[in-house]
Amino acid sequence: MNTPITLATEVSVLIIGAGPTGLILACDLARRGVNFRIVEKATDYAVGSRGKGLQPRSMEVLDDLGVIDRILDHGLLHLFIRSYDGTTVLGDHDPHDGRHRTPDVPYESTLMIPQWRVEETLRLRLADWGVGVELATELVAIELNEDWVTTTLQKGGTQERVRAKYMIGADGGHSFVRKSLNVGFEGETWKEERLMTGDVRVHGLDRDYWHMWQKHKDGMVALCPLRSSEMFQFQAQVPPHEEGEPSLETFQRIIDERTGRTDLKLYGATWLSLYRANVRMVDRYRVGRVFLAGDAAHVHSPAGAMGMNTGIQDAYNLGWKLGAVLNGARVSVLDTYEEERLPVAASLLGISTRLHQQTLNDRQWRRGEEVLQLRLTYRGSSLSRQDDPPSSPLQAGDRAPDAPLHDHDGNPVRIFDIFRGPQFTLLSLGSQDLQGLNRVGERFKQHLQVYTIDRGPSGATARCNQLKDDQGHVLHAYGGENGALFLIRPDGYIGFICGSKSIDSVESYLELLYDER
Ligand SMILES: Cc1cc2nc3c(=O)[nH]c(=O)nc-3n(C[C@H](O)[C@H](O)[C@H](O)COP(=O)(O)OP(=O)(O)OC[C@H]3O[C@@H](n4cnc5c(N)ncnc54)[C@H](O)[C@@H]3O)c2cc1C
Repeated sequence: MNTPITLATEVSVLIIGAGPTGLILACDLARRGVNFRIVEKATDYAVGSRGKGLQPRSMEVLDDLGVIDRILDHGLLHLFIRSYDGTTVLGDHDPHDGRHRTPDVPYESTLMIPQWRVEETLRLRLADWGVGVELATELVAIELNEDWVTTTLQKGGTQERVRAKYMIGADGGHSFVRKSLNVGFEGETWKEERLMTGDVRVHGLDRDYWHMWQKHKDGMVALCPLRSSEMFQFQAQVPPHEEGEPSLETFQRIIDERTGRTDLKLYGATWLSLYRANVRMVDRYRVGRVFLAGDAAHVHSPAGAMGMNTGIQDAYNLGWKLGAVLNGARVSVLDTYEEERLPVAASLLGISTRLHQQTLNDRQWRRGEEVLQLRLTYRGSSLSRQDDPPSSPLQAGDRAPDAPLHDHDGNPVRIFDIFRGPQFTLLSLGSQDLQGLNRVGERFKQHLQVYTIDRGPSGATARCNQLKDDQGHVLHAYGGENGALFLIRPDGYIGFICGSKSIDSVESYLELLYDER
């Protein structure tokens, strides 16, 4: 009997996969009013803690999407690691010791939170826009042509044909999308490097530390408490001679052998898995109207906790570009997705491989600034431009820092508060060309908001919003003492920097993206 096929429906964007990458993209498109669908082949939402290290840059994205409070409520910052040799406590240390919140960095270190909680939070946010994930809906065929991507979705015993202007393969490391389009996934599988992971309850262990036993000849074992639940994430290296699938019994045996303790009892597992280290990335991020993002484009060692985080950044980089193009921007903007993200994936593979070796060799969990993803920059991208830039610690392509300041009425406000939302933001630091600012603000009003930031008491009124940098935090983070313009992209990176007299060049930059008359 033939499978019934419903007629093709049309959608602007079809997202395949509802992991963190697909969900971030979905939230970003939803707030832009883009007509999209997000489909997921699993019949239930994932329950595993998997990527439990949320990096500061991802927290900034979640702040922008309006969910950071819930995320912080369910996470742990500065969780100390307690190291053991068998039953002997060797010491405690904070892998993020010395990192503190600063005016320009509101989230200073890695938050420990189970991946399922991040996904749950994003689904709840998506529901605010009236959108839900379509479970039990699997992409099974793709046809590309110049104007559309035509897909077949399998839903139980029926198939649906969906035509999309753009499709995103956020369908994980085994990506059907990537394989269907014959995109290369070069790299290695480290067959000898396996990790058993799972979520378990543990009787006899306090929840104040990430407990690690790293001295046993068969490898490390660790139990990390997961906040707002009774669970610990279990992780254990698997030696080459160890056979068998992960089970509660195996986890218990590993704990008994490697800790030397008899009082730790594991029970109530909700997720058990065996992870094989793969270090691979695509040679392209895009084939025509199809884009790859997240694990579909890059997989690597979990050391450094960057897989989920890099998927989040992929999605955040792509979301505003898709939204812009569907809203009239030049289609060439979409070329910059691969241009900006492919080098990031390449460097990520190098960093995580080095951290993996370091963790094995030194038995240490030291984490440098690189894993926080705050210094990641798109300098050198065709979207990063400067024209007679003022003296500034920043360059076009850098992350735009946060800074506390005050609004016109003296209320405290953060730069990140004014960035929040789907638009570009033009910051005019001490500029006097109010007429020019108003003209650009008016011309690009659909895509741009303009703020002037003064150092002293507020003076002349502009049509645009006025803020006061009375404590000098903007000056410190951005520089530009004698007047400067910073054009901030919707994903929080600086697109353009110029001196205050160059309002025309801001206009030219925006014309490159939008052909507005
Ligand atoms: C043990 C372990 C520890 C980790 N630790 C960390 C960490 O600390 N920090 C970190 O950042 N990362 C970590 N990671 C990595 C992190 O889990 C992944 O990078 C992350 O899940 C990738 O998200 P994604 O959305 O790109 O893909 P996924 O989470 O894999 O989601 C892809 C989704 O697509 C669906 N799908 C697949 N094919 C189809 C199809 N044909 N049709 C419809 N749907 C489909 C899948 O069912 C899946 O739900 C860890 C991973 C493991 C295994």
